[in-house]
Amino acid sequence: MERNLKLANYHTHCELDDGRGPLEEYVLKALSLRFEAIGFSCHAPNPHDSTWHLRHDKVEQYLETISRLRFTYGNRIEIYAGMELEYFSESDVLSGSEYADRLDYTIGSFHMLYHPKSGTYISIDNTREDYETLLNDNYSGDITAFVSDYFAIQETMMRHHKFSFLAHCDLIKKLNKDNRYFDPAEQWYMDASRHLIEVAADQHVRIEANTGGMARQAIPEMYPSASLLRIAAALDVPVVISSDAHKSAQLDYYFSQAIDEIIQAGYKQIDLLYHGLWTRQNLL
Ligand SMILES: [Zn+2]
Ligand SMILES: [Zn+2]
Repeated sequence: MERNLKLANYHTHCELDDGRGPLEEYVLKALSLRFEAIGFSCHAPNPHDSTWHLRHDKVEQYLETISRLRFTYGNRIEIYAGMELEYFSESDVLSGSEYADRLDYTIGSFHMLYHPKSGTYISIDNTREDYETLLNDNYSGDITAFVSDYFAIQETMMRHHKFSFLAHCDLIKKLNKDNRYFDPAEQWYMDASRHLIEVAADQHVRIEANTGGMARQAIPEMYPSASLLRIAAALDVPVVISSDAHKSAQLDYYFSQAIDEIIQAGYKQIDLLYHGLWTRQNLL
């Protein structure tokens, strides 16, 4: 269906973190898609070892590149500087917050759990081996405890920290292909995930409808799932659409269908960072 919606994507990565290609490539792609706006959201620097975050010593280059692109293309598209901030539950630190006053917006995200046995942080969305290491060592193999803790940690992040929107709120399902570890239709999962959305509503946190797991062929659905998105719509949790693009070609991945799904979930509006302000635009 042809719509007159303003399109934008504020969740994008690039060659300065774990994405591919220079920032300009994303701007050119966004222009070709007639986007109203594009935002860059490199994984924020953090104090722990990582190959996929922006390095502290690259932050100036990152921000200067965005300023230069805004100077060159700013009359044709709105260009915003953001970061995907990284939450560390052990220390209750949202890493990258120290840059917030130099950014136009921030994304609150949680990917890594502390693993006491090795003294390192391990990603929940990287490999099955890592996932099972966390499951077995931190939770004695109890998947209910693992997944419930994942949702509870994000609730703490929302209660203790401010950001523009919450990233991929049910990322814990990324490695759960064919319900390998859990069945999201089970009551405990529905309760834990619903509670997360209730806290988002209570804390006035915006969520994203993120097509990135599909763009990477990891899962066949968005973050959040259709059933969670319905709960979010019923509780008036604002939503922004994104593809978590790691390549410029993914900039509008599945957007058309995603908008249909957002409408089917019950939303009448989606949020847009436009002229420097978060605003609502009507879907129909
Ligand atoms: Zn992320
Ligand atoms: Zn991301």
